[in-house]
Amino acid sequence: MPPIIDKDLCAICGTCYDVCPQDCFSFEGDEPPSVPYSRECWHCGACAIDCPEGAIHLELPLPMHIVPSAALYGPPGEGEEEKLKRAAAFTRSIIKE
Ligand code: SF4
Ligand code: SF4
Repeated sequence: MPPIIDKDLCAICGTCYDVCPQDCFSFEGDEPPSVPYSRECWHCGACAIDCPEGAIHLELPLPMHIVPSAALYGPPGEGEEEKLKRAAAFTRSIIKE
């Protein structure tokens, strides 16, 4: 998901444009930025973290939810793999709604 900007909250400061390592944003200085290169976004979170108005919402793709969990908790133990598959299927069903 590309970053979503709440234009009502945006103070048109340009910070997101400045910090994005992928140059996803376009910013002219008189309107809230747009995100024409959203496909380049690698979801680092810098824009959402640095936005002084909290105007940027970022949704991580599903694989980015799962991979950090595996990294934190290690590979599934005996009998846990099936539970993880069911949890992933449940998450996918929610995301599709
Ligand atoms: S950092 Fe936030 S407030 Fe500043 S231009 Fe970007 S969205 Fe708007
Ligand atoms: S999450 Fe990172 S790469 Fe994606 S738009 Fe924001 S600053 Fe750029």
